[in-house]
Amino acid sequence: MTSAPTVFRDALLVTQDAQRRVLRGDLRIDGDRITQVGGTAPTEGAHVLDARRFAIVPGFVNTHGHVAMSLLRGIADDRDLGGFLETLFAVDARRTEADLEAGAAAGVAEMLLGGTTSFLDLYYGEDAIARAVDRLGIRGYLGWAVLDPEMTTQKGRPLDNAASFIGRWKGHARIHPLVAPQGVYVCGPETWLGARALAEREKTLCHYHLSETRREVHEHEAKYGARPALWLESIGFLGAGQVAAHGVWLTRREIQLLAERHVGVAHCPSSNLKLATGGVAPVVEMREAGVIVGLGTDSVASNNSLSMLREMHVAGLLQKHHRWDAAALPAGTLLDMATIEGARLLGAETELGSLEAGKQADLSVFRLDHPTLLPARSEAIISHLAYSASQEAIDSVYIAGECVVRHRELVRETWESIRAAGESAAAGLWPPTSGH
Ligand SMILES: [Zn+2]
Repeated sequence: MTSAPTVFRDALLVTQDAQRRVLRGDLRIDGDRITQVGGTAPTEGAHVLDARRFAIVPGFVNTHGHVAMSLLRGIADDRDLGGFLETLFAVDARRTEADLEAGAAAGVAEMLLGGTTSFLDLYYGEDAIARAVDRLGIRGYLGWAVLDPEMTTQKGRPLDNAASFIGRWKGHARIHPLVAPQGVYVCGPETWLGARALAEREKTLCHYHLSETRREVHEHEAKYGARPALWLESIGFLGAGQVAAHGVWLTRREIQLLAERHVGVAHCPSSNLKLATGGVAPVVEMREAGVIVGLGTDSVASNNSLSMLREMHVAGLLQKHHRWDAAALPAGTLLDMATIEGARLLGAETELGSLEAGKQADLSVFRLDHPTLLPARSEAIISHLAYSASQEAIDSVYIAGECVVRHRELVRETWESIRAAGESAAAGLWPPTSGH
């Protein structure tokens, strides 16, 4: 979609550039790219917006989730991961392409309204999710879940399904198909190495769950004699271009290994807390060791929100409290994890994650007069984003230069139509048949 250049005049710009500058000035978009940040931008032929009462912030990058599960919010609350999965697997067996797409559209809409412009997903049936991404204008890094053939309800061999999914969507401007081994509890060596080979062949990311619970680690040790990360190294799996979700139960040696192999981690504090994983992800140690760490909401079945604002807040509080250190994960670091570090995790830091000339115009426009941003001072804006800002303060969202949320309304489709489709699809999935 091409449109006239846009100039935001005199905005508070939270650039997230190398110097992490926060400055007053103009931001100009030409086509899908940012062409000027700061100073006074040329306005000939441009759509000029008075932005004095607004802050412009890079779009958030949500680095782990299962967006099609949006119809399952509240379906397995107050249970541990084992009980949670029992309910979820029973519901998954009844899912259809239509309800996957309706759920994905609802989740994408929720993310857009919350200022998320890119997300990394792990699920089967990613074609339905890709269609929702295509419809609504977000950027999707979509991982087709693979597991051992005898463990799956997928028709055909999961690795073959992943390969054909990648073939169908590769080259789409906003959709990045990839392969996603579900976790050590359902994937043997052949599946892991097959996924790695597929990712290398297709030059895609590889995304997976790793060491989420102590039970997962102990059962794996009992079966294979090694903790999951060490075992993945021993079979020759770990390598660059991989994003491991959770990483709660990691030893120092495993953290070192992830750093050496350039494996990034998506930290999902809300989901971990709600499912009572018991431990706290060693985010500070990972960052010190050089592991790139992003933030992920996980799904609304375990969070129960897709808000990256909320996730920053929870991530900060969890580390500070747990470590008896109020300086742990300061506001600036939390915002980094939600923006530029998330982009690095996706291998997209030259295109996404900050407001810089030449990058994709993926950004959110926050109302500075919202109660949760008072006092709206440049010295406090990063603190407000990390700790207090409500997503109601997000007025507009742009992706690839296109306005996808305007004055808190979706632009491409109405929330009412997405909501209605979501409610009717949810009726086919509720109530859950197993569990309680
Ligand atoms: Zn997950």
